[in-house]
Amino acid sequence: MASYKWIDHSFDVVVVGAGGSGLRAALGAAQAGLKTACITKVFPTRSHTVAAQGGISASLGNMGEDDWRWHMYDTVKGSDWLGDQDAIEYLCREAPAAVYELEHWGVPFSRTEDGKIYQRAFGGMTRNFGEGPVQRTCAAADRTGHAILHTLYGQSLRHSTEFFIEYFALDLIMDEEGVCRGVTAWKLDDGTLHRFRAQKTILATGGYGRAYFSATSAHTCTGDGNAMVLRAGLPLQDMEFVQFHPTGIYGAGCLITEGARGEGGYLTNSEGERFMERYAPNAKDLASRDVVSRAMTMEIRDGRGVGPDKDHIFLHLDHLDPKILAERLPGISESAKVFAGVDVTRAPIPVLPTVHYNMGGIPTNYHGEVLTKAKGDPDTVVPGLMAVGEAACVSVHGANRLGSNSLIDLVVFGRAAGLRCAATVEGGANQPDLTAKAGEATLERFDRLRNASGGTPTAKLRLDMQRAMQENCAVFRTQEVLDEGVSRIAEVHKGASDIAINDRSMIWNTDLVEALEFDNLIAQAAVTVNSAAARTESRGAHAREDFPERDDKQWMKHTLSWFDEATGKVTLGDRPVHEYTLSNDIAYIEPKARVY
Ligand SMILES: Cc1cc2nc3c(=O)[nH]c(=O)nc-3n(C[C@H](O)[C@H](O)[C@H](O)COP(=O)(O)OP(=O)(O)OC[C@H]3O[C@@H](n4cnc5c(N)ncnc54)[C@H](O)[C@@H]3O)c2cc1C
Repeated sequence: MASYKWIDHSFDVVVVGAGGSGLRAALGAAQAGLKTACITKVFPTRSHTVAAQGGISASLGNMGEDDWRWHMYDTVKGSDWLGDQDAIEYLCREAPAAVYELEHWGVPFSRTEDGKIYQRAFGGMTRNFGEGPVQRTCAAADRTGHAILHTLYGQSLRHSTEFFIEYFALDLIMDEEGVCRGVTAWKLDDGTLHRFRAQKTILATGGYGRAYFSATSAHTCTGDGNAMVLRAGLPLQDMEFVQFHPTGIYGAGCLITEGARGEGGYLTNSEGERFMERYAPNAKDLASRDVVSRAMTMEIRDGRGVGPDKDHIFLHLDHLDPKILAERLPGISESAKVFAGVDVTRAPIPVLPTVHYNMGGIPTNYHGEVLTKAKGDPDTVVPGLMAVGEAACVSVHGANRLGSNSLIDLVVFGRAAGLRCAATVEGGANQPDLTAKAGEATLERFDRLRNASGGTPTAKLRLDMQRAMQENCAVFRTQEVLDEGVSRIAEVHKGASDIAINDRSMIWNTDLVEALEFDNLIAQAAVTVNSAAARTESRGAHAREDFPERDDKQWMKHTLSWFDEATGKVTLGDRPVHEYTLSNDIAYIEPKARVY
């Protein structure tokens, strides 16, 4: 092995990721006077949060009466009763304050005539415990994530967060007692290797949509933090729950926000029928995402898709006032023009369900502390390690996330993590020195990949994985299809020992970046498809044709999954769902059938 030299850094708190959740957590830790670093592989404002369009949910009640308990009910129901109700209570109760905080920090929200924050309707958001739609989603036109991310980055610079930009985090540094001591990273522009020592390491690395062929998420959404957790021998949770957004632009995958249907848009099949009226008589086009995606897939399978191959669906906005479109949906009007050649004021947009969000991730409690199952205790905290944002599984989204509930998750739990650091970390406290061994396994892996001279390019391996996930672990699932997926992914994992890197340098080596990301993705693909093959029920985004009913008796529990990199073996376990709330202000919401 070539000899490498570590460059060492020491902080109180290290955050990996500068999306909405990472920036909010870093801001909180820095505000508490802790020496805080934020490491990111892309420039902060290029994080995927920038692409969020539709909005951020909070029961402000600006457009009619609202209540955080109604928001909680909707989130529990949306989760198909897999969400942890203590965490959901925390989310919905803290949401309004989190939105006002963003407003005061400068997020340019759209406004009502009397100057309040504008709120639009979103799928699954209702008044009075499921009665009728409510306008709960706060929006900055259709560029809400852009507005939030830029504002948070500006605020982080005001406080003394130290940014390490274009550093690619490689692995957690775990000591022999199972305590997380920090993280290792590769600096992309000069090839140097770094060890960041910290009292708390917070993973905020986002989702892993890129394990699939067609995704609305950025090329960088490879779930690196999730894979770091797996490599540390810790479990991920509920990885079988992958959200398909009903309206990705056909062929391109880019997103048309649910806000388009919130503003009055609707779907039609080849007969011009508004088919959602059949599947969800009450909520219609604004039923929850899994319901709409499944209905669209059913229409296409029954031969009522549109286009020459009858393989997609139309989204109509052409009946809406062009002035409203220009004011409220300018971004998606432009996307439709660029990616589908459609003028939304005149013609429908061709759309298809597309991978959009990962409900699964790193298990945490509502403080953001990472959990593992040790000695039978499913809520054992891993000392020194925290996770927030899409990388984490708190779990507030359970089996299915409601639209606009992710952005609020980022800021509420980003803030919670900052508060937890403030309460548990003593600024400048002595930390044990890292041993020479810390990071050794990482160096071996890095060196092996950098010098890989096999016969299969990363791009080929990645494509094989993405196709297998798209074909064998998507909207419709049966035992046969999933079992085939398990073996296809195992084949790709085996084939990865023949990986080829065409550039051996350590500076701006994009091929090596792709290889490291693929290495991360394949581990997550394996635990995802194995978890899906094991769960013999239908719940939220996990719809089994052979097990169409939800089975609360056997399956109202979180899946835990471990991965052995050497053999590709996946081990599964479980954790009970938290069937209690945090306070007496709301009682546990009992499971019932989930109809819209
Ligand atoms: C097109 C689109 C539209 C959406 N619209 C909405 C919406 O309207 N409302 C809503 O609630 N949700 C929406 N979502 C979901 C929501 O935007 C995401 O779930 C959320 O932004 C994720 O934020 P995050 O902070 O977890 O991670 P991200 O914003 O994805 O950021 C991840 C960060 O981690 C860093 N990182 C990753 N790996 C490494 C590594 N190895 N080393 C160093 N740094 C690393 C990256 O550089 C980046 O800074 C949308 C998602 C998409 C894809």
